[in-house]
Amino acid sequence: MAISAAQAVSELKLAFPEHRKVISPDGTSEFEETVARPWSQTCWTSAAGYVFLSDTQELKKALEIVKKTGSKFTIRTTGHNPNYGFSSADETSVVLDIRQLNSKELSSDKTVAQVGSGSTWGEAYTWLEEQKLSAIGGRDQDVGLGGFLLGGGMGALPNLHGLGADGIKNFEVLLADGRLINANSKENSDLYRSLKGGGSNFGIVTRFDLETHPLINVQYTINLYKPDSYIEIIKATIAVQEAMENDPKIGLFTNFNNGFVAVGLFYADTPAERPSAFEPFDKLGQESLMMAAVPTTNGTILSLAQAMGMVHAETKKRFVGSVTTGFSQDLYEEIHKLWTETCKSLPADHVLHYTIQPFGKGGLQAGKDRGGNTMGHEDAPQCWWVFTCEWPKEGNDDAAKKAVDTMTETVQSLAKERELLLNFKCMSFASSSQKVLGSYGAENVKNMQDVAAKYDPEGVFQKLQYGGFLLRDNV
Ligand SMILES: Cc1cc2nc3c(=O)[nH]c(=O)nc-3n(C[C@H](O)[C@H](O)[C@H](O)COP(=O)(O)OP(=O)(O)OC[C@H]3O[C@@H](n4cnc5c(N)ncnc54)[C@H](O)[C@@H]3O)c2cc1C
Repeated sequence: MAISAAQAVSELKLAFPEHRKVISPDGTSEFEETVARPWSQTCWTSAAGYVFLSDTQELKKALEIVKKTGSKFTIRTTGHNPNYGFSSADETSVVLDIRQLNSKELSSDKTVAQVGSGSTWGEAYTWLEEQKLSAIGGRDQDVGLGGFLLGGGMGALPNLHGLGADGIKNFEVLLADGRLINANSKENSDLYRSLKGGGSNFGIVTRFDLETHPLINVQYTINLYKPDSYIEIIKATIAVQEAMENDPKIGLFTNFNNGFVAVGLFYADTPAERPSAFEPFDKLGQESLMMAAVPTTNGTILSLAQAMGMVHAETKKRFVGSVTTGFSQDLYEEIHKLWTETCKSLPADHVLHYTIQPFGKGGLQAGKDRGGNTMGHEDAPQCWWVFTCEWPKEGNDDAAKKAVDTMTETVQSLAKERELLLNFKCMSFASSSQKVLGSYGAENVKNMQDVAAKYDPEGVFQKLQYGGFLLRDNV
């Protein structure tokens, strides 16, 4: 164990003497469970210690100790980011687990929901829906607010009210010097803008104040199609993507997977007649359909997130990569061919799959209407691709990573040749080696650097944070 991390763990144990508040390697099953909290097994590595923080005062004390000892640290909510070292670490670092920062409070006029940053979307939606309200968050109930919102955050209906980050009215942030401040359009507005997509570069967000909406009803269907029909599925995907440009109530994902293609069709209403925008998929016919994984359901963002959460339950090692492009049948077919070939390079139990996630002018405009963010999205309808490899613990890590890297690099080249490559890379879906912050453009990078220098002049979040999309090396 590195000396500074060992020192931090012993000081944390003194500061938090309560039973199992600070856990360090001790061979117990409790320790093993703590290590294995992250969603991806790739992140199941043993840190020098884990401290479970219940409120902002405790977090402040823990950060002080980290700073004083010079230990590396990492912030963890749910551990859904599959990149090693983001919410996980090794023996040189302590993990600050903020999952218990889960307070919930509604403003008196019910327009703002103050939610502790350790909460999951399932918890936030459940509480909001009890009050007939919604907020824009994740598609999966188990994902945490922290990483999702600080990385932009694409919900099921991205064109309706914009990205998750765009819907934040105020961030409560713990700075490296111990101050707990607010960042919103009036107070610390430079920090406010940088936090909307700028990740964990400036401080630890302790609370997100979210814009609320009257309860959003959603009609959703998740169908599984036969992979042989891929040309028709791509055509239908593009047709729905185009329809999204005229109707912000539409949401879509298309996931090409091992032996099936999963398509999620979402609509922010519960019409008696199925929206005509989905006809291209309906027309694919019974010969293309394998099954309705989730038959058409009139529900809410919560029930959709619960249905999606079921899909991701299995534990595996995981690696992701992301590219943003415009849309074109030719490009999508080329990417599909590339994927088919790349899959052949993998051992049989390694599953490489990819997802088409459209984001369009409705979402871009909603972001601008809310004051803008730091992500520098190009002003064009776009597709946020995510390439994911999942493999068993004893599998071939190098082959899995190589397959994802091949996909991201080659897709970038294919899109560039067709003048369809966009710079933006979404933090939520990118691999640690991708220059996410750099993809936001020089002006946004400069602003984020200035903001980091202003609010963290000692560079604590750059020097001591173990991993993440950090200004120190991600521009
Ligand atoms: C099954 C699944 C479904 C997903 N669905 C979506 C989706 O619909 N849309 C989408 O956009 N993304 C989605 N993602 C991606 C997800 O948003 C990112 O992986 C995100 O980083 C997870 O955040 P977290 O807080 O849950 O996890 P963590 O891994 O605990 O945190 C991720 C990163 O954020 C930092 N961080 C977390 N909280 C704070 C905080 N309060 N202050 C400062 N830094 C913090 C951590 O240090 C870490 O680097 C999904 C991922 C998975 C695995």
